[in-house]
Amino acid sequence: MIDVCRRYHIPVTSKVPSISSSESAQAWHTLEIDKTLRVLGSDRDAGLTSQNVSERLQRYGPNELTETGGRSGWVIFLDQFKNIMLLMLIGVAIVSGVLDLLKLQSGNAEGEVPFKDTIAIMAIVILNGVLGYLQESRAEKALAALKRLSSPKVRVIRDGRIIEVNAKELVPGDVMLLEAGVQVAADGRLVEQANLQIREAALTGEAEAVSKQADVQLGEDIALGDRTNMVFQGTEVVFGRGKVVVTGTGMQTELGKIASLLQSVESEPTPLQQRMGQLGNVLVSGSLVLVALVVGGGLIHTGINTGWQPNQLFNTFVDLIEVSLSMAVAVVPEGLPAVITVTLALGTQRMVRRHALIRKLPAVETLGSVTTICSDKTGTLTQNKMVVQKVATTEKTFGVTGEGYIPRGEFYLESQSEAASSPSIALDEYPELQMLLAACVLCNDAVLQCEAQNAPGQSGGNWTILGDPTEGALLSLAGKGGVQKQAMDAGLPRVAEIPFSSERKRMSVIVRGSQGNNPLYLMFTKGSPELILERCTTYQSGDRAVVLTPQHRSQILEQNNYMASQGLRVLGFAFKNLDAEPPKQPDEQIEHELVWLGLVGMLDAPRPEVREAVAKCRQAGIRPVMITGDHQLTARAIAYDLGIASQGDRVLTGTELQKLSQEDLKQEVDQVSIYARVSPEHKLRIVQALQSRGKFVAMTGDGVNDAPALKQADIGIAMGITGTDVSKEASDMVLLDDNFATIVAATEEGRVVYTNIRRFIKYILGSNIGEVLTIAAAPLLGLGGVPLSPLQILWMNLVTDGVPALALAVEPAEPNVMKRPPFSPRESIFARGLGSYMLRIGIIFAILTIILMAWAYNHTHSVTGANLSPDRWKTMVFTTLCLAQMGHAIAIRSNTQLTIEINPFTNIFVWAAVLVTTALQLALVYVPPLQAFFGTQAISLLELSICLGFSALMFVWIEMEKLFIRWYKKRR
Ligand code: ATP
Repeated sequence: MIDVCRRYHIPVTSKVPSISSSESAQAWHTLEIDKTLRVLGSDRDAGLTSQNVSERLQRYGPNELTETGGRSGWVIFLDQFKNIMLLMLIGVAIVSGVLDLLKLQSGNAEGEVPFKDTIAIMAIVILNGVLGYLQESRAEKALAALKRLSSPKVRVIRDGRIIEVNAKELVPGDVMLLEAGVQVAADGRLVEQANLQIREAALTGEAEAVSKQADVQLGEDIALGDRTNMVFQGTEVVFGRGKVVVTGTGMQTELGKIASLLQSVESEPTPLQQRMGQLGNVLVSGSLVLVALVVGGGLIHTGINTGWQPNQLFNTFVDLIEVSLSMAVAVVPEGLPAVITVTLALGTQRMVRRHALIRKLPAVETLGSVTTICSDKTGTLTQNKMVVQKVATTEKTFGVTGEGYIPRGEFYLESQSEAASSPSIALDEYPELQMLLAACVLCNDAVLQCEAQNAPGQSGGNWTILGDPTEGALLSLAGKGGVQKQAMDAGLPRVAEIPFSSERKRMSVIVRGSQGNNPLYLMFTKGSPELILERCTTYQSGDRAVVLTPQHRSQILEQNNYMASQGLRVLGFAFKNLDAEPPKQPDEQIEHELVWLGLVGMLDAPRPEVREAVAKCRQAGIRPVMITGDHQLTARAIAYDLGIASQGDRVLTGTELQKLSQEDLKQEVDQVSIYARVSPEHKLRIVQALQSRGKFVAMTGDGVNDAPALKQADIGIAMGITGTDVSKEASDMVLLDDNFATIVAATEEGRVVYTNIRRFIKYILGSNIGEVLTIAAAPLLGLGGVPLSPLQILWMNLVTDGVPALALAVEPAEPNVMKRPPFSPRESIFARGLGSYMLRIGIIFAILTIILMAWAYNHTHSVTGANLSPDRWKTMVFTTLCLAQMGHAIAIRSNTQLTIEINPFTNIFVWAAVLVTTALQLALVYVPPLQAFFGTQAISLLELSICLGFSALMFVWIEMEKLFIRWYKKRR
């Protein structure tokens, strides 16, 4: 079952807020709005006071859900043993124990510590379980902490001001503002709404959005899904706006009531982890077959040679079982799962440092495979800091001076001069311009605020906006003309509206004024100029409305195109007088016969770092594509500027796209770099078309309706700052800075992670193959005994392979990481030479060790007279294998660069790991208690040097391979 709490970013704590008040028992949906506000001690316009809030926070606790359900610690621990490789090790431990028991009974165990292999293997198994448990719980906590970084903010009215607070700071009585894309952070009673539609699937399972109504009073027995005057925590606003007084927070919400039924999400395994699981199965079955062959073959051989004598057969059986046990342990890469988990975790940390927040672990690994990045324009490629530069009424074009959102600046007539220093105009002479400025503030939901110590009247000060930057720029523009939102809203209060959506590309508000004693209703509309103009029949000229001729229309569209081709984001404005009181929920039919007011063009400069990021993408074989709701000419100007498209590249508009079948679109997608005036549903079609062309697509999105495209994309990317909660929820990754360059940085990290994972897989599995072949070779060469005990193999796999592998996991990016094409996500982990490398290196490893083994066996047996243990050759084999892996670790740091060409300080951990591991290995050989436990013997300096010499050959071989590949590539 999905974890609704996590899905909706509701902070989870173990503290239960104590609610004993009568409020919690209210059937809020049965109360009138005013009564509700009274009971909750709140005010619809001013909200709560700060003092109220802190008292209530003390009383009700934070707006958090209590964590319940989920797996207990024990279950998580036991789950670690559901791993076939660990189960095989447990089997090996048991068989090894039985053998030791038999030896003890037959008196053959002199000088050996009984059951040490069994104990050691079981210790490793339990340690693995503990490590797995710790990692899993740490990973859960880390992921939860990361998620809190993107936890939602809520807009509330407190002390009469609109402010943003963290969802967990909400208290009953808070007046909360809702808009499309928001996840409702607490339960509440609607106070006001405009076309508010909410998807309540999380609570009711109903996928269709429900229309909400503030002015209704419902009966007591109404079901949750029908409480249309209420909103509930965890549900999603898909359209419209609303004002809500919070009735319940934390565990007192409807979601809180079912929270105890919820279970925690199991973190998704990455494709690589899944493939490693499969690899484990292959290795275990392979080794079981090998064991059956060795034991079966050996027994038949002995049987035939000895005439099937039971005693001989039994002795051979015991010997072969020992060889098989060692082979079985050798084949399992015990250290690998831990190294992979650590690498992925480190990858997410590095990405977060570069402002990319991973929400789904598989993305860390698959980011490196991205071939196409589809990016929004506004805010991702551009700065989303809008400044109006031009205003054009039908008869005049005005330039506007000023910086940022500061509402200080001048208007000047463009026809007179382009220069900002030209004489500013008197606005009274241009009534149509004044009307347009009124439209800018009335048809606007943003708040412009000054957070400076300076008085707002001064030109300085830190002017910021709450809400959409496009609307913020309009407030600032109006401020330059002396038109203030607060004053306008007070004189002309809003009575109805049709909100903005990316599909409609426009918004309308209806305000009430008065003419004498009679009320007067006016509608103001703003949005995509083409769409607004289509709905106009007249234009404002001075104080009157004049009929729009086709000539006027084409002149306006030309002006629009001119402004757009300069990279300006252009909005069209219109208004009309309504004859009668409008309905509370007007529909789009009302947006016709409008009076055209003019165009407003604002500059949203490209982000400076994006140009370089685009160039990097191209070098890395990744195609950037712009998908925007904006005008094609604006899109093109910015795409050219950033290098996303070049002269002659195709621009496809939403209208054109609408006419294409999916099959036709599939034929087009490879040539189109700019999609303009598209709607969110087009994004889904674009992703699907690209994917059907075999592309691996990363797609950005911020709106509520972008969620399907984000889910469909291979990597769905949401905007951390401007993104809606719904889009974040659907994404694999969140950009904390909304920046395109961050996507490229994350892609680079993804490539580094994948390359490092491949590197240590080569490193670990190559050595495993070497070990297995060496062990199998010993009986074939007729050497008495098994060269490596299970305990020694575990030591190698976990320590002498594991520690350098961990160091290889933090290897920095190779210089060519963003200069080569992406890896196909569908390719096997063994592709591009990894499988053959492992086999080749495994065999070289084995050949070197077998030669050393043959020599050492003869050497120790020929010097036995000198009172040396004949088993010393085994220690030499053990030491050679370990030391050879040290050379391997150093050489494998790069696939192309020689070790002397790499700066050792770029990954000092590898060198430290090699030194520490070598020292530990020497301790095993020379420290008596360790000798007794690991079954080693001290070897002479000459013998050690010979081991070192053989091991060094491994390093030399890999370096020679690199030289050979270079020479071969040059020759081609
Ligand atoms: P991108 O998709 O790259 O973020 P965008 O911001 O232009 O681009 P939308 O937000 O979907 O995309 O806007 C589409 C169009 O709707 C804009 O080009 C503009 O004409 C119009 N528009 C944008 N914001 C508003 C608004 N607040 N009110 C009215 N119209 C708007």
